[in-house]
This record gives sequence, C-alpha cells and structure tokens, in this order.
Amino acid sequence: VSEFYYQGVIDGMTELLEQLREVTGARGYLDGDSIGERHFHDLMGARRIRPQLLLRPGTTAELSRILALCHAANQPVAVQGGMTGLVSAAAPQQGEIAISMERMKQVIEIDPFTATITVEAGLPLQTLQETAAEHGLLFPLDLGSRGSCTIGGNLSTNAGGNRVIRYGMTRDLVLGLEVVLADGTVLEGLSKLRKNNTGYDLKQLFIGSEGTLGVITKAVLKLMPQPGTQDVAVCGVNGFEKVAELLLHAQKTLGGNLTGFEVIWRNTYELICQHATKVKAPLPVDYDFYVLIESMGSGGKGDRTGFEDMLGAALDLGLVSDAVLSNSAAERDALWQVRDAAAGVAAGIGFMHNYDISLNVSDMDYFGTEVEKRLRSHWPDAILGLFGHVGDGNLHIIIHVGEQTRALHQAIDDVIYGLIRELGGSVSAEHGIGLMKKSYLDYSRSAQEIQLMKTLKQALDPKGILSPGRIFD
Ligand code: ZN
Repeated sequence: VSEFYYQGVIDGMTELLEQLREVTGARGYLDGDSIGERHFHDLMGARRIRPQLLLRPGTTAELSRILALCHAANQPVAVQGGMTGLVSAAAPQQGEIAISMERMKQVIEIDPFTATITVEAGLPLQTLQETAAEHGLLFPLDLGSRGSCTIGGNLSTNAGGNRVIRYGMTRDLVLGLEVVLADGTVLEGLSKLRKNNTGYDLKQLFIGSEGTLGVITKAVLKLMPQPGTQDVAVCGVNGFEKVAELLLHAQKTLGGNLTGFEVIWRNTYELICQHATKVKAPLPVDYDFYVLIESMGSGGKGDRTGFEDMLGAALDLGLVSDAVLSNSAAERDALWQVRDAAAGVAAGIGFMHNYDISLNVSDMDYFGTEVEKRLRSHWPDAILGLFGHVGDGNLHIIIHVGEQTRALHQAIDDVIYGLIRELGGSVSAEHGIGLMKKSYLDYSRSAQEIQLMKTLKQALDPKGILSPGRIFD
C-alpha cells in the first residue's frame, strides 16, 4: 500500500465523517473518549474494541441516510441494542462504525382491538412489558436482562427466555417490521394483519439474523390478555426420568396454562446457595434437580386448585419429593429469583464461560453426566453448573476453569459442541452465533443451508457492510 493510496483513504474517511455528522447532528455523533465503554463489548466482554465512531440515529430517515452513505463508502458498521448479547454479535470489530438504536425508543401505538403494540427498536424490553401491562395486556417475552436489553436486540437475535413453552420465541410475537437495508432502502412492513400469505414472509429474514441482513427500526408485536392468576412452585426431584415425566404431567394437567418449566441441576443449585447471598433457598440441597413450574390462568377459581392438584398428583405419583408453592406475589418473585440467580453466580466465583445449547429432552440426562466427565478430564477442578428451559429443550451451562483466555474458551467449546454434534443438538438455542460460535455453525447446519445463508447475505448486503463476519465469514 503506497503512501499516496493511504492518504486517499484518509481523505475519503474525513469526507464520510463530515457527511455523517451532518445527518445525525451533534447528539447522534460521538467519537474518541466520548464513546462510552459499554459500546465496546457485549456481556461476554472478551473483545474490547473502541468503535471508530458511534452514531445514534433519532429517526428511520436518519438511519437510512447513514446506511446509504456507509454503503457508498464501503464502510462496515456494527449494529447495537442493549449490549446484553452473549456471542459478540454487536461488539464492534476494528474499523467499524457502531450504530446504536438507543435514541429510537418510542412506543408508537397500543391498539387494544388488534391486541398489538407498535414500537421503535431501541425500546427496553421491560418498558415494553410495563407499557402493555398498563393497558391490561401482556407482552410475554421475558428474559433476565429485561431491564437493559432492547426489543430490537431481542428481534435481531430471536431471543427466547422464560416463557417460550407457552408463547414461543420472539419470532412468534411479530406481526410486522420496518427495516432499513444495507443501501439505505426503507422496507415498510408495519402490518397488524395476523393472516397475510402474500408471497415471501420477508420479515422472517431479519428476525434472528443478528443485524447482518438489515437493521430493524420498528416492529408491530402481538399482545396477549394479562393473565388473572400466576402460580409458581419449586419442586425437588430425584432422577432425570422423573423430571421428564413431570414435564409431561404438567403439560397434560395444566394444558395451555403452563408458562414455565425451568430446571436447575443440583450443581447449579449448590452454586446459587453458596454465592447468590440475596437469594433465599426454598429447598435444602438434597435433590438431583430443582424444577420451577409456572402456571398462568385467566383468573377463574379453578386456576389455583388446578395447580395444587397438579402438584398433589405429582407428589402422589412419586415424581416430586418435595415442593414449595408461592402464596403471594412476593413469594412468586422470590422463587423466580432462584432461577434468575443461576446466571449471576459469577460474582462469587470469577469468570464463567456461558453456554446455550439445544437438545432432545431424552438426551439431556446423558449430556449432563457426559459433559461433566469430559470437562473434568481436561480441568479436574472445573466449577460447572447446568440449568435451563427444559420444557423447550434448551440448556445453559456455566463453567469456571480459572483464568480467562480465548484459547481456553475454544478448548471448552470443542468439548461441549463436539458432544452436541454427536447428539444432533444445536450449538445455539437462543443466544445466536455472532463472532463467538461461527466456527461451529456447521455442527448444527448443513453445507447447503450455510450456502443459502451466504446467498441471502450477498443479495441483501452485496458490499458486506452490515455487521460483517458475524454468523459466517
Ligand atoms: Zn435462557
């Protein structure tokens, strides 16, 4: 590269920066030290690269002009929501401009007759949930990072969380999207129609594609009636075959009211009791598994008795050894805190590698035993815990093996994803692929599938400026 050419690039860059600043104004344009460190990395935090610029568009029109300029200049961008991801999809790479959706956080409309809410992408999930609740409606998507994650991030990663068993993943809650394409084209699709079989369902391309095919700016989302009752129990269960039977029992007896079936392996429960000091353990450390069951009913008198009957029968059948049932909203929250604490034990232990995988429920018991055996053959003193949304076949694994290094992470990846490949599972259930899992994409996807993904990327983003290198190279 000659000096002359280098100078040319700098000149082009200066021009681009001036044009971008004109589009966003001072409020939407941050550089150098004014870029907060939270824009350098997501929750996994292994990468810490300062973006060369942080743009915060205030409107779809602004974002459209930003992307048109970046497209013309071949300038790569990293699209950012609440930065609570776990696979480094939103963490900027060297030379990228970060685009944060944090200023676009309006609730545009709540429509009780179609039971929909129309929002901007930067709206925090919890604000969305609370806004729906104020109108007597429920937005059922729920995950531990609800206070800081944004609906745009939830959409672009197709987030799952705690209530998928009844309401589905984020994808299942979307009716319409507005998206800005790589060249600045605005795709207006804010439809409230539940049935709309008019050719390809284009919005699905952008849900779960981690910002690589377009930038979601607005969404029309489904709302549900606010449930009238909510009952939660934590059960002590011995033997995984009883966990699996308890799931079938809960599905059969609670029917559509079953909203949560979360399982904490004993190893995680011990870590919670030791390190999550704010959490009051509802049961002693005597059982192989701790199962949180949640039921939401429409408010009839039968809801509570139905839940109690389900638990009573589970005890009589010997599926459950002991159970604690919530009697108030505070007790309900306290039981959920036990489950949420599984993700937060790092504070007392040190860096935890965090995994998110899918399996057939019939393989989970073997997986739990086998993964520990294989990990201990490399790291005899590893601290590990399993927990997850067993009703959806989704497990999380947290592992501490001492010092945190990238090479070590790859070695743990190889153990876990190798076993997942043997069992025909998925290397990502709800966190996405990002930069961190892309070398394992072909463990869960065929060569033909990956080729079609690349064809779509090429068609929608021919210059490769949108979050390049995420999902695949
Ligand atoms: Zn989860």
